[in-house]
Amino acid sequence: MNSVELFEKSFAVTPGGVHSPVRSFKNMGCDPVFFSEGSGAHVTSVDGKKYIDFCQSFGPNILGHRDPDVQEEVLKVFNKVWTLGALDPYSVELTSWLVDKIPFIDKLRFVCSGTEAVMTALRLARAHTGREKVLKFEGCYHGHVDNMLVKSGSGLAGMSESSSLGVESKIVSNTLIATLGDLNHVEDIFKEHGSEISCVIMEPIPANYGLLIQKEEFTKTVYDLAKKHGALVIFDEVISGLRVGFEGMAGRLNLIPDIVTYGKVIGGGFPVGAYAARKEIMAHMAPEGGVYQAGTLAANPIGMVAGLATLKKLEKHNIQAVLEQRTAEFAKNINNKINELGLNWQMIQYSSLFWLAPKTDKPITSPKDFPAGMADNFAKYFRSCLKRGMYQAPNAYEVGFMSWAHTDEVCAEAENIIIDSLKEASANH
Ligand SMILES: *Cc1c(COP(=O)(O)O)cnc(C)c1O
Repeated sequence: MNSVELFEKSFAVTPGGVHSPVRSFKNMGCDPVFFSEGSGAHVTSVDGKKYIDFCQSFGPNILGHRDPDVQEEVLKVFNKVWTLGALDPYSVELTSWLVDKIPFIDKLRFVCSGTEAVMTALRLARAHTGREKVLKFEGCYHGHVDNMLVKSGSGLAGMSESSSLGVESKIVSNTLIATLGDLNHVEDIFKEHGSEISCVIMEPIPANYGLLIQKEEFTKTVYDLAKKHGALVIFDEVISGLRVGFEGMAGRLNLIPDIVTYGKVIGGGFPVGAYAARKEIMAHMAPEGGVYQAGTLAANPIGMVAGLATLKKLEKHNIQAVLEQRTAEFAKNINNKINELGLNWQMIQYSSLFWLAPKTDKPITSPKDFPAGMADNFAKYFRSCLKRGMYQAPNAYEVGFMSWAHTDEVCAEAENIIIDSLKEASANH
């Protein structure tokens, strides 16, 4: 079946034809493409066309698709066991490796997704502090946990309303929402609610709604405010953890979170998430303590082995640093070309993440700064890239992910595709 036939079939049996809304081509103005193979930096569609892939499953594939060293380890365990739901050596090995590597965590537990990790981290923070409110930032994504599906509401400082139908209003009223980059706003919220806030949760590099690079001072002051008011700090490092370096953004900012959540890279391409903290906090978890959390497929052997093989390879070749350099070079080349041609775009880059946005006078630090018409211009650019053999998330607000498999040669080809596509998208105005 080709992509058009598959979409018809999929649409009939799945909401919107997709198993996660960000995969939808709904706003791209073209037929969706279905992929059946991935190898290194590339994916191949069911229609037989090969694309450079900068989505890379939204981040897990830091080594590219089916890295051969990881695949070899996966096949070894695949021939021994799939899932046990019992004690096993594989999870102990990966947990110990992580706890050794990351100085500020004593204990870690595996779950099956980033969403699950966040859900548990929030529960743990409420249990530890005996408080119920949580402060999050507009523009940070933390999975589809009920009380994280909020946007800023009208009225008093920090008031939120649900951004999804079906979420209990009672739950949403316990989520306070602040503006990224706006310390006065955060201070006001703490003044009003400081003693009720169990935790502040943030993406220490917000990378799910554009790439919203914050001043270090902002993140540090938010951290200090939380501490001053007795709230825990949760760093949601589902994207950044292990990608920007083994100690994640916490290590870069030299800020020790009380709880940290992981996902994506940690499972080497399989469904793995985790949350971690110092031992006094983790002692609340059942069966040691009174906070319940469990999982049939948690720490499944395939994901454990894939995760460990991925991390060991990252360490062996110092890959995070190499990727950062590579992505900086990539963004620099594209921005130079954009300026030369006088195009109205910019490539924003942090570590091995990048985001193509319309040109702005000031840095974009919060969704409030998004220029008008952004999504429509992106759709034109997206279609041009697709035509030329490059795939990325079909959404103006999602970042691109550089992988180890994106060699200099692949990057040079991608740079040409991006520039040609930007030219074409700009000409269509
Ligand atoms: C992807 C992501 C999540 C959700 O993880 P899932 O595995 O998709 O549930 C949560 N937080 C952040 C920062 C993420 O990037």
